[in-house]
Amino acid sequence: MAHGLNPAQSDAVETLSGPLLVLAGAGTGKTRVVTFRIANLIRHGTPPDRILAVTFTNKAAGEMKERVGELLGSKVKRGRKKDKRPEPTISTFHAHCVRLLRRHATALGYPAKFSIYDRSDQESLARAVLRELRLPTAALKPSDLLAIISNWKNASVHPDQAPMMASTDKEHLAAAGYRRYQTGLKSRGAMDFDDLLLQTEVLLSEHEQVRDIEAGRFDHILVDEYQDTNGSQYRITRHLAAKHRNLCVVGDDDQSIYAWRGADVTHILNFKNDWPEAKIVCLESNYRSCGAILEMANRLIQFNAERHDKVLRPSRPDGIRPRIAQHKDEIKEAESVVGEIKHLIENEHLPPRDIAILFRTNEQPRLFETELRKANVPYVMLGSQSFFDRREVRDMVAYLKWIDQPDDEVSLLRVINTPARGLSPKSVKTLMEHAVADGVSIWQVMQRPEVVSQLTPAAQRGIDSLRSLLQDVQQRARQDSLSAAMETLVTRTAYADEINRLYDEPEDRQARLASLGEVANAMSAFEDSRDEADLTGFLADIALTGREMGNEKDKLALQNAVWLLTLHAAKGLEFPVVYMVGMEEGLLPHSRSVKSGRDEDIAEERRLCYVGITRAQEKLTLSMALTRRKWGKPRPTIPSQFLYEATGRAQNPNQFRKKRATAGNRFRSPTP
Ligand code: ATP
Ligand code: MG
Repeated sequence: MAHGLNPAQSDAVETLSGPLLVLAGAGTGKTRVVTFRIANLIRHGTPPDRILAVTFTNKAAGEMKERVGELLGSKVKRGRKKDKRPEPTISTFHAHCVRLLRRHATALGYPAKFSIYDRSDQESLARAVLRELRLPTAALKPSDLLAIISNWKNASVHPDQAPMMASTDKEHLAAAGYRRYQTGLKSRGAMDFDDLLLQTEVLLSEHEQVRDIEAGRFDHILVDEYQDTNGSQYRITRHLAAKHRNLCVVGDDDQSIYAWRGADVTHILNFKNDWPEAKIVCLESNYRSCGAILEMANRLIQFNAERHDKVLRPSRPDGIRPRIAQHKDEIKEAESVVGEIKHLIENEHLPPRDIAILFRTNEQPRLFETELRKANVPYVMLGSQSFFDRREVRDMVAYLKWIDQPDDEVSLLRVINTPARGLSPKSVKTLMEHAVADGVSIWQVMQRPEVVSQLTPAAQRGIDSLRSLLQDVQQRARQDSLSAAMETLVTRTAYADEINRLYDEPEDRQARLASLGEVANAMSAFEDSRDEADLTGFLADIALTGREMGNEKDKLALQNAVWLLTLHAAKGLEFPVVYMVGMEEGLLPHSRSVKSGRDEDIAEERRLCYVGITRAQEKLTLSMALTRRKWGKPRPTIPSQFLYEATGRAQNPNQFRKKRATAGNRFRSPTP
């Protein structure tokens, strides 16, 4: 068998049919098994395009594609369209669902070119819904409404079931909002991110014909990180694999960290109930981390009461003992971590990409960013404000969405008078009233002479200019290229003038203009990589990847920069040097879980800590600040209970709780 697999891994890789479960601890080569197995299936004659592999992030999908290519000695050059061999489909659940929905969304009453709403599109729709319901904002904020709806969608709760699920006042209000929100999405021909999964599930469970077509596309399905599938993902997988039963899932129940988003660990633990003939393979050797790091991880996770006990042995020597570093305050913590990193890069010649800083909450990275910039250390952050969230980019994307689908009202309203074109709020209000009264889109109202003639001459000219803009850009996209169409869009809207109006600093203006250029760059890269690249496809692509990736510059930086990652984003990855920062009560475990005090909430935080520790290959530092500012005031912190547990100071969490009360805020490590 192929090099670099132990007997258990080989067993999984050589099992070529039937349901297969690999349930094993961190770093035991689960992802490696998936990758090798894809290559092995192809070697044994499975046509590559009959294989579907699902991973958790776009980054993981990209790496897996590359790895399979290497294993097969693929000669396919990236970016070349011609003479491409068929390839396995390797993507995230969301990306696969988009492809599936594009083919069949009409069966659900959505246009095939449905648009995908991002956060701010969702917010404007949520605001409109709350206005219609005439609720005071104090009763339910748009963000509350969206959070509750998202929870329901992740639990496959549909609008008509929501009233039964509601228990709090907010939830009862939200149940009414959910119905309108969903009707609003549908009438705008749009889906939100959660819909991509939920509507796919509906499609596959209610439309037998669609199910047959889609399930018939593949002979093999492989799913990585199966412990974090939610109900929809679980049922989608089951539908797609039901006939051929060649379903291979890998995962680790100790790394289940998305319960808050509806993930359910019983899907992996009960795999055998659904697939009784399943073969189960256990992997026990950890190849990633040095012995001392693994020992710490193993010790910590024992504190979770309910778990599927697994053996996890180091295959590497003990190495360097993990270190606990305590700093005066949060600024000192950032200074000292970055100082050490600079030393590692400059004096020990470590490539920056070998180092990661992991944190729990979104507020933590700011100080580290500041220090990294001061120290001139390249870094890249996942989960930060993405390129596609910048105002000018958002405006352009709104234009593009409207051009792709003129009835998309949220997008049209965003740019209807940006830059100004005589369409005053009053004219827009008139148009909206007609649209609501007749149940059609604003764009359709704009085509009606009897309505338009009531508007001011300036507004009429504005509508004319929008109409010709739409036609010209569409035509350019059809005849020329997407990036050429983007150029037309920028010149015809005179968006540069808008930038000059908004920003005074020359540097600022230049950077904003450059972002518009980046959109065109992204488009041409997209066109190079696809046989059929149209605007609809491009918009779906950025909706899916925009959350994870930045612009071209950021992507270059990815090749050699220090990683700043949330613990959630770090899942599945590995780094020689890891800093886990902010090891304090209220950060890790998160204040929400500390407050709730429920064992299951703390257990999920513990798994998150376990994921963090098991990312480290050679050197692990857990750091904390003795005081941390909250609303501007320094406050003493309490060391994370996980520090006590991971170092063997606590025999059980309760004993630790007493200790914590008397131990003050300095963590005392056990005598060596
Ligand atoms: P996680 O639970 O974090 O997702 P995993 O189980 O998916 O981890 P992998 O990422 O596949 O583990 O493997 C961890 C590391 O161990 C990788 O660097 C991989 O290349 C290496 N590895 C796995 N199996 C072997 C092996 N048999 N021989 C040598 N190295 C191996
Ligand atoms: Mg993995």
